[in-house]
Amino acid sequence: MPSYQLSKSTFMQGLQCDKRLYLYKHQRGLMDPISTEQQAVFDRGKAVGKLAQQLFPGGIDASPPHHFQMLEAVETTRRLIEMGHPIIYEATFLFEGVIAALDILVRNQAGWWGYEVKSSGKVNGTYITDAAIQYYVIRGSGLMLQDMRLIHLNRDYVRGKDLEIRRLFVSQSVLEPIEKILPLLPEEIARQKALLLSAEPPETPIGLHCTDPYPCSFMGHCWKSVPAYSVFDISGIQRYQALKWYQKGIQTPDHPELPLDQLNDKQQIQIAAARSQTPQIQQPELTAFVENMEFPLHFLEFRCINPAIPLFPGTRPYQNLPFLFSLHLQEKPGSAAQHFDFLADPAADPRQQWLEQLLLAVGTSGDILVQDIRLCHKILTDLQQTFPSLAPELNQMILRLKDLMMPFREAWYYHPAMCGKITPHSVFSALVPEYASYLENSQKVHLPTLFLQKLSGTFTGDWEKACRDIKQDAEVHSFAMLKIIEKITLNLYPSVDVNGQ
Ligand code: SF4
Repeated sequence: MPSYQLSKSTFMQGLQCDKRLYLYKHQRGLMDPISTEQQAVFDRGKAVGKLAQQLFPGGIDASPPHHFQMLEAVETTRRLIEMGHPIIYEATFLFEGVIAALDILVRNQAGWWGYEVKSSGKVNGTYITDAAIQYYVIRGSGLMLQDMRLIHLNRDYVRGKDLEIRRLFVSQSVLEPIEKILPLLPEEIARQKALLLSAEPPETPIGLHCTDPYPCSFMGHCWKSVPAYSVFDISGIQRYQALKWYQKGIQTPDHPELPLDQLNDKQQIQIAAARSQTPQIQQPELTAFVENMEFPLHFLEFRCINPAIPLFPGTRPYQNLPFLFSLHLQEKPGSAAQHFDFLADPAADPRQQWLEQLLLAVGTSGDILVQDIRLCHKILTDLQQTFPSLAPELNQMILRLKDLMMPFREAWYYHPAMCGKITPHSVFSALVPEYASYLENSQKVHLPTLFLQKLSGTFTGDWEKACRDIKQDAEVHSFAMLKIIEKITLNLYPSVDVNGQ
């Protein structure tokens, strides 16, 4: 009875880290739980792979009924080839104890060609190595592949009324770079197999390999002794630099031996906050930011979906399509805020309705504060092209955008509880801790995924409740933005009554 010790994906894990391979094979219970966002990425990959099968219609699927029955797929593939089937999906092969499934196997006039589908927009070195192990196993098992190709999405494709599969995907031969990798594989396969026979996991220390090429799924286990706030969290630090300090025992940002002369000005502000445990304020810059704000202030929180496969005419793969906003409007300093929100109907392209409602909510004057100004700018610019009749209003809106994160990114205001992370979530948690638990919970649910599921008909659950949760989450975020501005204003002018009393 044939068996296998490695698969394509475990081999790739072994290339990243010996310990990762060992733990995955022998102590899988130590893996970090999969987040909703990661699961959405896996699901997206599957959906793109399935769609790419339409490039070669009429194929037979050789996948086993269960992931643990891969050997059955090897047998099915062998039979399908013998029977003369020219197109096989999930064709699976075994050679030297390595099993590898290929997305699409096609026999054309030139012979057999292998296709592996990637949901990204371009080919990278990891994909080529991944294809090399597939090619090695398939050829080794006796099928003379004439070409090995990667199929990926064409990011420039703009969908018309219908999806044109042949324009959506691009296929590229990777045979030439694969040939350079092939001679290295037998030794590496033997090395990984020997490693798996060991009674104990290898003592691989943590390092740069933990996130390269992918974040490892055992970081929760291996990094548990790294302090919750460590030198790896110094904002903008090169990971190799943080690793060098960590290995020398300089593990936290407040460590007295941390060499300040190797840090830039913003990083030094972060260290000063960690050592003094007090907020660091660059008074002139922060004052200028606050005084330049133009009322009425609009605190805008918005969310987008970015489907890999364009769902609507005029959209590209991974284009950001806004579907939700929450806006708090404050007429003057200290006045009570009005709230507006919008959640699109998940039955159609959400953009036009989103835009029309937003234009009503933002009016014609005052700053519009956003957490991600680049994304917002990009979305509004895209919308200008899609809805040229609204281009002048959109242009005015773009001119009114203000970056809420600027004071934090520039370290004009740095709070020690931000722990080096310059993200909306870290700023909210540090400055408006009264919302921290709510914000923490909202991190666990990926709202765009829910909306996308509803749009594509895969959502299961109570949609009305989901809508309430989605809107409430956005409302808390836009309100937290308002609170942040109040907090930094209070720090500058402690006597100002931000509650308007
Ligand atoms: S966390 Fe790092 S050391 Fe641990 S298994 Fe993963 S890559 Fe290896």
